[in-house]
Amino acid sequence: MKALEDKIKAEGKVYPGKVLKVGRFLNHQIDVPFMAKLGEEFYNRYKDDNITKILTVEASGIGIACLTAQFFNVPVLFAKKSKSKNIGDDCFVVQVTSYTKGIVSDVMIEKELLGPEDRVLIIDDFLANGCALEGLLSLCKLAGATVAGAGIVIEKAFQDGGARIRAMGVRVESLCRVKGMSLDGGVEFYED
Ligand code: 5GP
Repeated sequence: MKALEDKIKAEGKVYPGKVLKVGRFLNHQIDVPFMAKLGEEFYNRYKDDNITKILTVEASGIGIACLTAQFFNVPVLFAKKSKSKNIGDDCFVVQVTSYTKGIVSDVMIEKELLGPEDRVLIIDDFLANGCALEGLLSLCKLAGATVAGAGIVIEKAFQDGGARIRAMGVRVESLCRVKGMSLDGGVEFYED
């Protein structure tokens, strides 16, 4: 999406460790009208897939998941990263390595919130090595839910997550695919 690429070029910052910081509109401050346009684009791509639920993982996927779900008129389920009093005991649990924090953590959803009757669209802000998306796919598998596909705002296509997960037969739709980026702020995109 050209508008997204332009926004990343104008407002994104490249950090060491191949991290793209987009805190001005996606990861810290949220540009709601702009993000809603991205949600509408996911809707256009998946509107014929009978989606019953949007699934993401806390925290940074929640904003774009909600702005997408309003077009589908379905609930958003976000996997939790810590066991608190807010979540019941009967959960599906998988382990995920965090790209930005470098730690392994349990990611969970309550069993009663996802089941074989669901057709799921997974939404996330970034796709890098693919651990977060694989974790969400595993949770769907444990629940017996069908995954229609994934919608990713920014795929860092120079990392192998996208290729690996597409090779598993999963439909992955990315709104932009980063070819490379450098610490002086330059970000290059694939023209899909
Ligand atoms: P993966 O599990 O695919 O390696 O990484 C995906 C997750 O890590 C995303 O949910 C996102 O929160 C975070 N992430 C990965 N790369 C970046 C990045 O370059 N910038 C930001 N802001 N988050 C990232």
